[in-house]
Amino acid sequence: MEAREAETQSSIFSHAIASKELPKHFRDNRHVWVFIELERGRVHPVSIELLGEGRKLADKLGVQLAGVVIGGCETRSAIAEALAYGADFAYLVESPLLSDYRNEPFTKALSDLVILHKPEILLLGATSLGRDLAGSVATTLETGLTADCTELDVDADGSLAATRPTFGGSLLCTIYTLSCRPQMATVRPGVMAPPRRMSNAIGSVIRHDLMMIEDEIVTKVLDFRPDGQSETINLAYADIVVAGGLGIGTAENLEHVMVLARTIGGEFGCSRPLVQKGWMGFDRQIGQTGQTIRPKLYLAAGISGAVQHRVGVEGADLIVAINTDSNAPIFDFAHVAVVADAVDLLPALTTAFTRRLVPHTQTIQVERCHR
Ligand SMILES: Cc1cc2nc3c(=O)[nH]c(=O)nc-3n(C[C@H](O)[C@H](O)[C@H](O)COP(=O)(O)OP(=O)(O)OC[C@H]3O[C@@H](n4cnc5c(N)ncnc54)[C@H](O)[C@@H]3O)c2cc1C
Repeated sequence: MEAREAETQSSIFSHAIASKELPKHFRDNRHVWVFIELERGRVHPVSIELLGEGRKLADKLGVQLAGVVIGGCETRSAIAEALAYGADFAYLVESPLLSDYRNEPFTKALSDLVILHKPEILLLGATSLGRDLAGSVATTLETGLTADCTELDVDADGSLAATRPTFGGSLLCTIYTLSCRPQMATVRPGVMAPPRRMSNAIGSVIRHDLMMIEDEIVTKVLDFRPDGQSETINLAYADIVVAGGLGIGTAENLEHVMVLARTIGGEFGCSRPLVQKGWMGFDRQIGQTGQTIRPKLYLAAGISGAVQHRVGVEGADLIVAINTDSNAPIFDFAHVAVVADAVDLLPALTTAFTRRLVPHTQTIQVERCHR
């Protein structure tokens, strides 16, 4: 089930209008948990980002941070990574039945752990796997889940304040789970900054058995074929991203975006209308309903800077925008504004970078934006 569907089923109320008391049986719930997502044995970067965020929440609450590792037999390094990135200890459910992700055994493993050990906060990455698992765990436990958060904090009363965009990204709302535990949230890859890795980190591991047998699992994994997911992850974690918007004009002109990206060793992406036109795949869409990126350099060509695009790129260290309209909204948050025709400028930049020369700039007005 999609995380968003689960969200509507949960007991979530605006803090301002509701003051529902936490039932007695939830008052002993303690500690912050982060689900450690594994991709063919490797820890997904979003789990590391969540460990950094979980550490801050746990410190504010004065509780411990746990990493939850669920998998087949390649779990040792995942536990070591969880401890190295801030977990005080780890829970482990290991079984050959958990070698590949399947909703039923993972939901059973995680739900059983929660029922037994009662965390107050449970965080998962908003990846395909995380969304699927978070939705079914929240439904099983009948608790609240806030999907695609952009900010997490704890209130004075210790409640999780989970903030996410709403109304098409034009507003941010903070959602509280007042009457159930754990308070669950998902966060998309690249939204939170990763913490520093600590060397020689140690912590205990609490093991649990999976209380399920193969005959109880309807889903069978027959084969594994990568579906380009690695490409998606490259965009979210690329140091350099060049993106095109409607201002690029035609599908053919997108070649200028791709060639420049390749020339300077980056990834390429686009705004949503280009995906809707079928000019690029959805895995290249940047923004609220696409990828969130945090590159060192983001070069946006022919993109107006609508709020739904802005939320996906604001974490970039340096935003360079090329637009023919000097009043384009993107110049409100870009660090460098280039008023120019992107269809002319992109190939000129490619030529210049290829030759390692500075391009001719007589016809280009470049402004440094102040934020
Ligand atoms: C629920 C919802 C979710 C959304 N999610 C996303 C999302 O994830 N990502 C996203 O991007 N959008 C998203 N959108 C759409 C968003 O609102 C904007 O419509 C979209 O970002 C606009 O794309 P654009 O900037 O390419 O096009 P436009 O807004 O049309 O802007 C084109 C820009 O190109 C400039 N231009 C024109 N010709 C040239 C040229 N030759 N050289 C340089 N500049 C030129 C123009 O001045 C203009 O500023 C979402 C909308 C909704 C309602």
